[in-house]
Amino acid sequence: MFKILIVIFCLFGFAFAGTNEDLEWSKGESFLSFLTKYKINKDIYFNLSKTDKELCTEIEAGAEYRLILADNGSLLHALIPISEEMQIHLYRAANNIDYILDIIPVIYDTRTELLTFNLESSPYQDIVNLTKNKQLANEFIKAFQKSVNFKKVHKDDIVAIKYEQKIRLGKYYGTPVVLGAFVRLKHQEDKYVFQNLDEGVFYDDSGKSLTGVLFKVPLNYKRISSIFTYKRYHPVLKIYRAHLGVDFAAPMGTKVWSTGNGKISFFGRKGGYGNVIIVNHEGGFKSLYGHLSAFNKKFRSGSTVKQGDILGYVGTSGVSSGPHLHFGMYKNVRAMDPMKILSSSKKSLSGKARKTFMANVTMIKKELENALKNGQVPFKLESIPLYSKLKK
Ligand SMILES: [Zn+2]
Repeated sequence: MFKILIVIFCLFGFAFAGTNEDLEWSKGESFLSFLTKYKINKDIYFNLSKTDKELCTEIEAGAEYRLILADNGSLLHALIPISEEMQIHLYRAANNIDYILDIIPVIYDTRTELLTFNLESSPYQDIVNLTKNKQLANEFIKAFQKSVNFKKVHKDDIVAIKYEQKIRLGKYYGTPVVLGAFVRLKHQEDKYVFQNLDEGVFYDDSGKSLTGVLFKVPLNYKRISSIFTYKRYHPVLKIYRAHLGVDFAAPMGTKVWSTGNGKISFFGRKGGYGNVIIVNHEGGFKSLYGHLSAFNKKFRSGSTVKQGDILGYVGTSGVSSGPHLHFGMYKNVRAMDPMKILSSSKKSLSGKARKTFMANVTMIKKELENALKNGQVPFKLESIPLYSKLKK
């Protein structure tokens, strides 16, 4: 059910008075059920392009969205996030009857920060104490999961992190990205990790993969019918176009297998994606298989799957012009280009990717060293004058 967080009356400079409501997208709610609830003609959805229909399926349960309602309860504006960076803007047209739907960017700040500290209790607790950022603590732990044992912490053990954090409306927003980090623990070798952003995979300072996640192409396909595009601005239509996955064209009934080991977190119908399976993998990765004609009946939500296990069969369920698999890969909710993740599932980097990565390693290493020397002050939201003023 809808959980009303705040209800405030405001004028906002619009030519009407409206009620402003912040709500949470409930589990099982779909974009179509949302339209029904506000008595909006569903043609607005059916007239969307195939990829925009798919985007309307990307709304996650728990997503916070904002409505402005007229006094009689009818919808004037809705802002519904479909990713950290894009949102649906649905609003009533000037004729007061029709509605207009645009996919627009979410506005936020990105801060690149350095954090250094001497370990006191545990890296997780110390990061939370210093920054009040639990997600950063989680990402740091994930980054070193395979290479460092933090069980025994000694006085004078040292940590340095370079990371990116989005900020929106005075709050930490989205998942922070650890770009590089360093730890010096007593009786252990110095350890570095660096993230290759294209794939969301961590490597050591020699370019060797630390994450050990190897993803496999999930079917034998004929061709790629649609590539991944993220927040591509269409200069003529003045809107954002996105396709948060790869479409693999293949004959009806072609076997689709799991790209990696994991656990099924969704198994059933989901809006524009039709019959869908979502698998959670280690390292914060998630894979999505859409438009399936049938499922492997052996599995259901919660089942554990191995890489290569048949999940279902290629089909045209949902919005689909011909039989194909819509394959999505996500890291921490953020949609990634599956082709980059699949092609880079190797133990170490090579060629041009390695060259770029190593140049980055050299630069970040220097920044971390300097931060350690100078004793970097931890970044907190309160340290931005604007936000501390807003809080009062
Ligand atoms: Zn697709």
